[in-house]
Amino acid sequence: MSHFEYKDGRLHVENVPLARIAEQAGTPSYVYSLAAIREAYAGYVSGFGDRTHLVCYSVKANGNLAVLRALANEGAGFDVVSGGELHRVLAAGGDPGKVVFSGVGKQPWEIRMALEAGILMFNVESPAELDTIDCVGREMNTRAPVALRVNPDVDPKTHPYISTGLKTSKFGIPLERCFEDYQRAATMKGLEIVGADCHIGSQLTTTEPFVEAVGRMTRFVDRLADSGIEIRLLDMGGGLGICYQDETPPSTDTYAAVLGDALGGRDLTLIVEPGRSIVGNAGCLVTRVLYHKGNNQKNFIVVDAAMNDLARPSLYSAFHEILAESEATQSVVADVVGPVCESGDFFAKERAVANVGPGGLLVVMSAGAYGFAMASNYNARTKPAEVLVDGDVFHIVRERETLEQLIQGETIPESLG
Ligand SMILES: *Cc1c(COP(=O)(O)O)cnc(C)c1O
Repeated sequence: MSHFEYKDGRLHVENVPLARIAEQAGTPSYVYSLAAIREAYAGYVSGFGDRTHLVCYSVKANGNLAVLRALANEGAGFDVVSGGELHRVLAAGGDPGKVVFSGVGKQPWEIRMALEAGILMFNVESPAELDTIDCVGREMNTRAPVALRVNPDVDPKTHPYISTGLKTSKFGIPLERCFEDYQRAATMKGLEIVGADCHIGSQLTTTEPFVEAVGRMTRFVDRLADSGIEIRLLDMGGGLGICYQDETPPSTDTYAAVLGDALGGRDLTLIVEPGRSIVGNAGCLVTRVLYHKGNNQKNFIVVDAAMNDLARPSLYSAFHEILAESEATQSVVADVVGPVCESGDFFAKERAVANVGPGGLLVVMSAGAYGFAMASNYNARTKPAEVLVDGDVFHIVRERETLEQLIQGETIPESLG
């Protein structure tokens, strides 16, 4: 069921009219549905059924503390890619024992922080990183729990910027040399091998790449077992896609079944790291129309949100559905653009969109993942507010940034007068 629906002609998030949220929180604002987040998470849990598993929500998709707390309450673990994300998880009350730490450039301070917190596992992305983690582990008189991130060389058939499991990608260790790195890791005193990991890309809309990847991974795990290295945790990463326009990604049931079947009777805990598929369709960006302008070629609808708030259209040419807050709006073919001084600052091009006049509200859908998380201050624009809707009520879970905060931390040297 969608938690973004028109009721009496006005767009609601759960039971709250978006117009009321825009009034109180201002625009632009991200608005998330708690029920939608919980449902998406529950889809994974029910999909895996009796199989031992752990869903580690990928924090980079949306790291708001309230979102993290909500997922922690459901029992989720977390996939982090920096000390900053680990800090967020801990601040939100997440269980460090359910945290996996991925990313190609972990620094000693981040490794130390994660070991102190007692995380579940490091997903190690290179032989050199293995040495660094081993070194920190020995310094701290402990064994850092590790998996090596295997690059299984599977084409996820998604946008090149979010394909990560190809031979040419910076991520992971090529399958053919990973075996030897495992043998070396097994001799290191600051490490304990606990898992094997891969992540092939994001916004995958077919099962085939997952089938291929999990097949390669299970065969690899068997080979390791034959050599005396027992793996307990198999982390298959994230990447399940969502519907932005007309995509038909596999359901979590299908996805879970595909992974589970490949594991067969092996005694492995399956870890997945979904980000987008948990929060993507659980959020929208509400924005106010500022101006209409046109020339004899085109119509432009200028809104108060911009590429600094939601980068996906300009970064990936991504499609986001755009709705009017008020249902009964005629449509017009126009570009929906923001105020930033870049031609790449658009949310839609040459699209039939609701002809909302200045002062009215437009709603950019499916903006819960990689939305606020990628927001910047470009053009000295303050970051938007974030709102969490829970049934009949809503909470501003992040205040709109202020102009004062925008220049916080900057100083002018005395010599400049
Ligand atoms: C980005 C990322 C994820 C999450 O991907 P989604 O497509 O949002 O599910 C999971 N694991 C790793 C290592 C990632 O880099």
